[in-house]
Amino acid sequence: MRRSITGKTRIYGIIGHPVEHSLSPQMQNAAFSALKIDACYLAFSVQPEDVMQAVAGLKALNIAGINVTVPHKSAVIPLLDEISPLAKQLGAVNTIRNEQGCLSGTNTDISGFIRSLQDLQFSSKDKTIALLGAGGSARAVLAGLADAGASRILIHNRTLERAEKLITDFAPLFPAVKLEAVELETLQKTNLDLLVNTTTVGMKSGASPLDLSQCQSVLHLVDLIYSPAQTALLKQAEELAVPAINGLGMLLYQGCEAFTFWTGKSAPEKEMRAQLLNAIE
Ligand code: NAP
Repeated sequence: MRRSITGKTRIYGIIGHPVEHSLSPQMQNAAFSALKIDACYLAFSVQPEDVMQAVAGLKALNIAGINVTVPHKSAVIPLLDEISPLAKQLGAVNTIRNEQGCLSGTNTDISGFIRSLQDLQFSSKDKTIALLGAGGSARAVLAGLADAGASRILIHNRTLERAEKLITDFAPLFPAVKLEAVELETLQKTNLDLLVNTTTVGMKSGASPLDLSQCQSVLHLVDLIYSPAQTALLKQAEELAVPAINGLGMLLYQGCEAFTFWTGKSAPEKEMRAQLLNAIE
């Protein structure tokens, strides 16, 4: 049902560049509708050089909260009044709340990813886990897994130096976790409790970032890609009977956690999931 916008309607949104592809407007507006909250959520395309004005504008225009996406997740940090410890450690914020001019930042990509592992009935505590990729999403996944008590995390990236840089950044933050940048062969010879694909391989072509049948043992698998819903890697996991999920859960739960951070209310997960599935189709 269409809601009417009034002078009392609270404004939420997302800043990024590009941002037109974001599914958050559909998902968050469905959540506001489901709970009959007088609010609307918009996408704001913000150029990198304008991020400071955009964040100052949240206060000036009394915008209630925003998500932050690529390439602004780090740039917003010095502009905030408060930041959650894990977002600070990661150096990336994806959600900001504006309470009477006080801007608080958090990172629901991390908590959203960890929550999605519940759909696999997987707990990271004391586990050996491998990541494929060392980009922005790998950072959030790595922070979440290390914070959740994984004992050993192997990272393989096409550009090895980027995996090594990730480890240099994270090792002092999570000294209890053994972090290793590895070649694909080493990853494939290791018994893995969980394998997470954080690369973009499989998004557009039917390619796979690795041949799962060449891995010694993989007990669970996550592919962060959510469109297509079944990548070549996920198809192989199904054929080999490896329990696996795609990235829809992470996308959904980061949105649910952002909604709760802004409104203090439990998010209407069912409606948000349905809206996402509809938008992806
Ligand atoms: P990113 O920062 O651009 O990182 C891309 C990663 O993919 C890098 O590690 C890159 O390796 C690797 N890569 C790219 N092309 C490759 C190729 N041909 N062969 C091997 N490796 C390749 O991207 P991101 O933001 O981390 O996103 C990565 C994926 O996660 C995307 O598919 C995105 O949709 C998904 N994602 C999902 C969610 C969710 O909520 N489900 C959230 C965030 C991201 P190099 O370092 O060598 O370039």
